[in-house]
Amino acid sequence: MKKNRLWTELVHAGERKQLPIGRPVATPIYATSAFTYDSMEEVDKVFSGEAGDYVYTRYGNPTIAALQDALVTLEGGTVACAYGSGMAALHAALFACELAPGSTVLASQDLYGATFDLLHKVFGSAGVKTVTADFNDLEAVRAKAFASKPLVLLAETISNPLLKVCDLAAIAAIGKEVGARLLVDNTFASPFLCQPLTLGADFVIHSATKYLGGHADAMGGVAVARQEHDGLALISIMKLAGGVMSVWEAHQILRGMKTLGLRLERQCDNARKIAEHFKDDPRLSRVHYPSLSAEASSGLVSRVLRAPHGGALVSIELKDNTKEAAFRFMNALKLCVRLTSLGDVFTGVSHSASSSHREVSPAHRKRLGINDGLVRISTGIEDVQDLTEDIDQALGRG
Ligand code: PLP
Repeated sequence: MKKNRLWTELVHAGERKQLPIGRPVATPIYATSAFTYDSMEEVDKVFSGEAGDYVYTRYGNPTIAALQDALVTLEGGTVACAYGSGMAALHAALFACELAPGSTVLASQDLYGATFDLLHKVFGSAGVKTVTADFNDLEAVRAKAFASKPLVLLAETISNPLLKVCDLAAIAAIGKEVGARLLVDNTFASPFLCQPLTLGADFVIHSATKYLGGHADAMGGVAVARQEHDGLALISIMKLAGGVMSVWEAHQILRGMKTLGLRLERQCDNARKIAEHFKDDPRLSRVHYPSLSAEASSGLVSRVLRAPHGGALVSIELKDNTKEAAFRFMNALKLCVRLTSLGDVFTGVSHSASSSHREVSPAHRKRLGINDGLVRISTGIEDVQDLTEDIDQALGRG
């Protein structure tokens, strides 16, 4: 073998060895932008799709593929694609629905604020119309669906911040009646609590930044399609729009997902205990938690979410229904972290009126029932007694 000079070895030494025979037990981080082959004929085959190997990380990468495969299994779909954020995943899934100028999306009125901005500012400027309905009123959804003939129904499994559980099977049935696809944002439930594709949805998306990752240290999104042709559209958008997930994030999120069940069982348990502890507290006007709701008694919550869980979020409304009182309460918390995210191993609180629903007019927020004194709690895996004590002492200062 010819010995190269130092400058050359600095670039090539140690690289591009064949992998050893033993398989790694955990997927390594393939931090490479491209893949090489022994001959151009092999490269040609990979480019043509004849050989299903890797050629360029925007097209596919083993670390990202491992995460995608896990999500296909967990959500019960055919194809999953991982993107740089939940918003990128949502954008790709909406695009895969072949929206065109003049087409309509019928969206739940309770969607995450940025989702509305995406619909209005990005898809709206391309001539796509958004119509909203209360997705907990099936007759209203059916009436709007027949009137507006949407191509897509867009729902969230658990709404933010009032935590209403959506009857996904019934919404999917309405979609079928009018020939619309159902896209579900399953971020608040995670595939551990709900698998929308098995309830009739066509696409499911996640902000993987939340429960899938679970440790507040990775940003990403995934979209999963039930049918292969929809999955091929997701892949095409990933390759062409290029919003792919980084291999580092994919590794963190895949690692996080291994404890999703353990984390969520504990987080749901903590949320339920907090909801029960404070539900009659005189300093609060209302506690929102799915398994304490009317839908729970009608059996809806256990039809949609893995029984006996009601999710890992609780929203509380202070009797003093003002932003000032909410801020005083949140500032007084010593353990619960003030943040604008959710789904982490630690408990976090957010003020919906000034964060996720900041861009929504006060009058519309009022119509939606999102009051200034409402604080959303995303429970972590801490000892629940420490959490209730922290909330209790902070309410005392409110
Ligand atoms: N969907 C829901 C329900 C969310 O709460 C969020 C973010 O908070 C997103 C989508 C967007 O996710 P990301 O911040 O990863 O883009």
